[in-house]
Amino acid sequence: MALVEIKNLHKSFGSNHVLRGIDFTVEQGEVVCVIGPSGSGKSTLLRCVNLLEQPQEGQVIVRGEDITDRDCHLDAARQQIGMVFQQFNLFPHLTVLQNCTVAQTTVLKRKSSEAARVARANLERVGLTEKVTAYPAQLSGGQQQRVAIARALSMDPALMLFDEPTSALDPELVGEVLTVMRKLALDGMTMLVVTHEMAFAREVADRVAFMDGGVIVEQGPPAELIGNPAHERTRTFLRRVL
Ligand code: ADP
Ligand code: MG
Repeated sequence: MALVEIKNLHKSFGSNHVLRGIDFTVEQGEVVCVIGPSGSGKSTLLRCVNLLEQPQEGQVIVRGEDITDRDCHLDAARQQIGMVFQQFNLFPHLTVLQNCTVAQTTVLKRKSSEAARVARANLERVGLTEKVTAYPAQLSGGQQQRVAIARALSMDPALMLFDEPTSALDPELVGEVLTVMRKLALDGMTMLVVTHEMAFAREVADRVAFMDGGVIVEQGPPAELIGNPAHERTRTFLRRVL
């Protein structure tokens, strides 16, 4: 069974038909990168996968459960899915440790000692143990994004979604975030990553999907999709970004 199965997904905002029938699966342990021009619907697709947006048509099936079904327990479904945004979205008034414990205690009802233990373990994974008492404003963008990753991991997600996680960073800070993501991939985390980092996609992804105009135009192993795309639209896009 695929970890995530997306079937004939459609999403419109008013008359703007953004997702036009997406069929897509992510297998357990797979790293899939989604590339494509601005406005093609990449963020909307990710937001439909954890139901930050409600699609008008189609299904998102996570571990066999249709999370777009009205009867589905939304919070329980969402808990399985961690998301990291372009803007890190940390809570500015909470310390690094508190950022990583608050959802554990409120949503998962973990005891604070247990939440702190989990948070520290994940902050260690992203190389930020010495920053537990710092506030977000005291951190670099790269450090903030690593906290956001640790925060998402602290909920023990089955799937991690990344929406252009390095696009808001100064160039010299991109590498530390990609290093953490590469390590996560090696640890076997299932990841769906929207990115413009072609070197990362080429090296880390099991599969790359090219999206344009609300559809997945083509997908395949990175060497094929990036190295030898079948569609003219993909070639045009790659010429611009490579
Ligand atoms: P991408 O991430 O590929 O750049 P998006 O998914 O952000 O593309 O956007 C695709 C289209 O959907 C754009 O035309 C955008 O204006 C529109 N859109 C996205 N989110 C909303 C929203 N919340 N309300 C209205 N329109 C939206
Ligand atoms: Mg986007």
